[in-house]
Amino acid sequence: MSEPPAYIGFEEYSEHIPASIPAAVQQATSRFVSGRAARVAELPEWEQLRQAGSEIRLHTIENMDVYLAQLEEKILSAGGHVHWAQTAEDANRIVLQIAKEHNVKTAVKSKSMATEEIGLNHFLEKENIQIIETDLGEYIIQLAGTGPSHIIVPAVHLKKEEIAAIFSEKLDMNAPADPIELARIAREILREKFLTAEMGISGGNFLVAETGTLVMVTNEGNGRMCTTMPELHVAVVGIDKIIPDWESLTVFLKLLARSATGQKLSTYTQFITGPRHEEGEFGPKEFHLILLDNGRSNILQDPIGREVFKCIRCGACANVCPVYKNVGGFAYGWFISGPIGAILSPQMLGIKTARELPYASTLCGACADVCPVKIPIPTILRHLRRRVAEGDAISLPTIPVPIRAAAGLSSLALAHNWIYRFGALILPTLMSIFKRNGWIPSAPYPLSRWTKSRPLPPFTSHFRRWWKTARPTQGKDSTR
Ligand code: SF4
Repeated sequence: MSEPPAYIGFEEYSEHIPASIPAAVQQATSRFVSGRAARVAELPEWEQLRQAGSEIRLHTIENMDVYLAQLEEKILSAGGHVHWAQTAEDANRIVLQIAKEHNVKTAVKSKSMATEEIGLNHFLEKENIQIIETDLGEYIIQLAGTGPSHIIVPAVHLKKEEIAAIFSEKLDMNAPADPIELARIAREILREKFLTAEMGISGGNFLVAETGTLVMVTNEGNGRMCTTMPELHVAVVGIDKIIPDWESLTVFLKLLARSATGQKLSTYTQFITGPRHEEGEFGPKEFHLILLDNGRSNILQDPIGREVFKCIRCGACANVCPVYKNVGGFAYGWFISGPIGAILSPQMLGIKTARELPYASTLCGACADVCPVKIPIPTILRHLRRRVAEGDAISLPTIPVPIRAAAGLSSLALAHNWIYRFGALILPTLMSIFKRNGWIPSAPYPLSRWTKSRPLPPFTSHFRRWWKTARPTQGKDSTR
């Protein structure tokens, strides 16, 4: 049984990064980066599209209540059901209730970040409902009993040999390390599940308010099977996926596939407006949409942080991120990784819980350069760092008092020359007590946070002496 997604903390995880993850991740992300660049170069209007995408998203964020109400009305008039879930628990409970009403024993699920977010698999398994992931990557990690390590390629960290070993062990067979053969095995098993499952579960890439349409963008066809083969379709979608109309959708469809996988368009783009309307028509008899809040309304109150909801989950920011490429997705501690995880998780889980994530970045800005909807990721990271350090109206600062005091003192010293000079005079003498073989291997708190992982060079006042003696012709001594 897979575990629900509990945040594990960047610092703790970073001590246990498996050696094979960076190589596998770097290989895959490089392919996506070059594919994206080629597709973007084909579109002279790319920057205008990004601007349009950004503006539509901002407009929708500011008018989310209006568009959500319109969406609900359209879905109801198309014969669907709409449920509002305030929390992850509410969403799980609603899915369970629907499943029980229909005597569901097995559900097939297409890839969905919202259901990862609420830990739906774990919840339903505890209630004796078998839930089968049908996206190949998700199926692999479900068998492996882990979570996704990339937004769009959840098993990106695994090599074909490792996948073959997982299949062999979990499916009790001798699976070859051949991608085509592995896909064939999965397809054969899953086809049977599609035909017998009583319920299909999906997420959604967009919700079009104008017509009440759920839009799903996939490459494997499993999404279509999940949402049309069983008689019952339940979609769990975050309220942030709302867009105003079909004209907006054309912009996002152009941006999404190019940014995600370097395709012009994904292989399957599905539009679902309610259940099937007549006997003989294709599709489920019943359609339920669960609109998930789970903290999103709170984030909407923050004018800087809420830009995170412009995200269309393409994963391009992770593919170019030097931190992600070196530590892999699991290091971000929750189901969503990369730069988008670094700005979303602290806001959803609370600054105190995920306080390391805003620092899991070099602030190089590569993520913002590729983001198709122009999310100012470095700006949001700095904003969240400030919230971590100084607190805000919602939460107290999470940095321990001695560290904040030390930072305050440093700030004073750098602002007032006489304090700086006094410190430079006494610190080398004070710290020499801890010197061993020319280094400080272990210092008192709060400096011990540094020396825990590496020694400190000794404090000296050499710089001031050097400035005065070695550079006498470079102008006035500005440290005076
Ligand atoms: S933040 Fe931008 S680049 Fe990253 S996943 Fe979201 S839309 Fe894509």
